[in-house]
Amino acid sequence: MRPLIAGNWKMHGDMSWVDKPGAFAELLPAAEREHLDVLICPPSLFIAPMAASCHEGNILLGAQNCHDAESGAHTGEVSAEMVKSAGADYVIVGHSERRAGGETNADVAAKAIAAAKQGVTPIICVGESLDIRKADEAEAVVSAQIKASVPEGLTDYVLAYEPIWAIGTGMTATAEDIKAMHAMIRDIVGPNVRILYGGSVKPANAKEILGTDNVNGALIGGASLEMESLAAIARAA
Ligand code: PEP
Repeated sequence: MRPLIAGNWKMHGDMSWVDKPGAFAELLPAAEREHLDVLICPPSLFIAPMAASCHEGNILLGAQNCHDAESGAHTGEVSAEMVKSAGADYVIVGHSERRAGGETNADVAAKAIAAAKQGVTPIICVGESLDIRKADEAEAVVSAQIKASVPEGLTDYVLAYEPIWAIGTGMTATAEDIKAMHAMIRDIVGPNVRILYGGSVKPANAKEILGTDNVNGALIGGASLEMESLAAIARAA
């Protein structure tokens, strides 16, 4: 399956960052990454001004969130249609940092439906807390999250497994844990859905993680902010 290397810039950067895709394409020209997809999910404000350079550099563009409504009185929100019309083809939904703010599985499923309606591919995030992993309930919790967050009948989506305790902490799940979790996820999502691993992926651990069975790419926070490290991770894929 074609790997997907996805960077999530979160709330980092300023307008000068719209030049980063150009820098990435110089570091790792499209001809050297024909076997994989590279995606950058910047803050929403940067999507439109990044669209041309991403297109030129063969880099996909995504948003970090969208609202489930088509339009309306939702101050500060962006709709899936806005995401699409700004130039993005992917949207992250249900990131743990948003779930921590109260987003439920049902909210995530509604956002995924809204995205799919606009032809935007949702990247649906799931993952367990450290307490849950310690209690040996990680697989049960993640399985329940997937069943409740992935809308019935949806086929074009990406599933990102991100153990919460590994996000931004420098801790990563062991290769065995990732292998076991991704095998379980594969059984649920079927053979055609890309399953990403996320949680402190960096150049030093990318090869091992990306070489694990049923890992079809990575969702990368901190290490996606520097184009050198994002390119090094993409090279490992
Ligand atoms: C993320 O936010 O999705 C993430 C995986 O972050 P980091 O790579 O910094 O752990």
